[in-house]
Amino acid sequence: MPEPQNFMRVPDPTPKRTLYTDAMEIFHRAADTIGLAPRVRLELEEPDYEHIFYVTAKLKDRLRPLHPEAARSFGDLPVTQVRDPNGLERLADGQILLNGKALLGSDVVIRRGHLRLPDGGVYQLIPGESQRFKAYRVQHNQARGPYKGGIRYHREVSLDLFKALAAEMTWKTAIAEVPFGGGKGGIAIDPRQYGKEELEAITLRFMYKLKRLIGPNIDIPAPDVGTNGEIMALMMRQYLDGERERHVGRAIVTGKDVRIGGSEGRVKATGQGVVYCIEDYYADRGETLKGKTFTVQGFGNVGSNAAEIMAGLGGRLLAVNDSDGTIFNPDGIDVPAVLAYVQDPKNLKRSVAGFPGAQKIEKKDFWEVPAEVCIPAALGGEITGEVAERLKCKIIAEGANGPTTPEADRVLLKRGIDLIPDIIANAGGVTVSYYEWIQNKRMESWTEAEVNAKLEHALKRNYRIIRDIARNTPRKTEMHDSRPFCVGKQVEPRLAAMILALKRIEAHYVIEGFSQ
Ligand code: NAD
Repeated sequence: MPEPQNFMRVPDPTPKRTLYTDAMEIFHRAADTIGLAPRVRLELEEPDYEHIFYVTAKLKDRLRPLHPEAARSFGDLPVTQVRDPNGLERLADGQILLNGKALLGSDVVIRRGHLRLPDGGVYQLIPGESQRFKAYRVQHNQARGPYKGGIRYHREVSLDLFKALAAEMTWKTAIAEVPFGGGKGGIAIDPRQYGKEELEAITLRFMYKLKRLIGPNIDIPAPDVGTNGEIMALMMRQYLDGERERHVGRAIVTGKDVRIGGSEGRVKATGQGVVYCIEDYYADRGETLKGKTFTVQGFGNVGSNAAEIMAGLGGRLLAVNDSDGTIFNPDGIDVPAVLAYVQDPKNLKRSVAGFPGAQKIEKKDFWEVPAEVCIPAALGGEITGEVAERLKCKIIAEGANGPTTPEADRVLLKRGIDLIPDIIANAGGVTVSYYEWIQNKRMESWTEAEVNAKLEHALKRNYRIIRDIARNTPRKTEMHDSRPFCVGKQVEPRLAAMILALKRIEAHYVIEGFSQ
């Protein structure tokens, strides 16, 4: 008989660092600073629910371009003439989808599974198969209201990432003073590799599975990276399909097209909020945005709208970096022109790369462009400690979620580069999502001017509280009251923002108590 093993497992002395533990570092520092009640800390340091599920969808037949070398053996293959332009759908990765019915009446010549298109290229026919995708929804906390947070379609997502992003929504909704909690989710997919109808099928299936977990008073999704108002429309349709009282359920998602219950100002809201914060940062110093130079990383919803609004207020855009390229113009980039370039339907990657009004530079050089303001508006973790050492800006306004790593934070502090942290800087999106939700519930529709006036007040008021916490200047003005939140010493801006969030969330537990 084997000897019974008689040993104790020694606990790992250094718990594994993950994206989530990194993201929670600031939470723990703020919790220590304010002496957060231990049970509240336990409630907040892990999500309420973590859902992982799978979505399947039938894909279409596609054409994969053949390398010119391999195409030689098809030298005499006649050209296939497709009469209806909808028969072929070009994707950003160079593949082409075949849209069945639109091909009727075309002269299609297939040889050994290959065909030639009028562009001269030979393509391999890949039969459409069903594919499985991994999907997530993390519901972090609902002490202050229903879970709220975006849906991300991106290849590099994980439970760890969604936990971090969902927690961030809990802090952000508290800071923006909207009666929501935090959630986040999405699908591990690169949407640019799929056609319109394929994405529709995947989204409908996603919502079919999600439906039992969410609701207009339970958990309310919105767009995030890789999704938009069209995806929200599909999600809403699927959620409400067959419901008798469809109109009362429109608040199931926010970020919808205004014609189907979306709010005026929502599309621009996050970028608009970033600029309100930057404007207030300078107003505090008696300055305006006129003539201020800036750079933007990520030229999607947040980055492009922030750039447009900054330029409208007299700011000068010097450089843009996105996932496919980097452009630079020391005299200033013409923002309306670069927007038109990115939105041109022929620009399949929706990238600034190749924009004629600027020169191409390397991504590493982007960070060293001397400008007053840097707006990271792409993905998380982009400003590492090493990048932070090279930055030549005076202030970072975080449009993206979690763009600055904890190590970079320490470098920025050491180098005296100011920061407007993400949980206030990009809170404009969720704030106007809340306005959309109220409008849906009340069956109202507000003007863009009404929306923006409320948004400006909400963000500037809360940003001022955060600045007061950071400087330890408790005071009450006509616009804000920072007295309940200051902690008796100066703290850096990110810690100040987290202190505001935690004090507001803690109040719910302290006053309401815990259900058993
Ligand atoms: P989007 O999909 O519209 O645009 C993303 C942009 O980032 C694209 O231009 C893409 O090319 C670029 N990008 C992606 N990977 C990159 C990389 N590795 N390097 C450089 N650029 C890269 O997404 P969005 O809605 O604008 O969101 C951007 C960020 O803002 C995300 O972090 C998101 O979580 C955050 N955010 C969005 C909203 C919103 O309302 N959309 C609200 C709050 C926060």
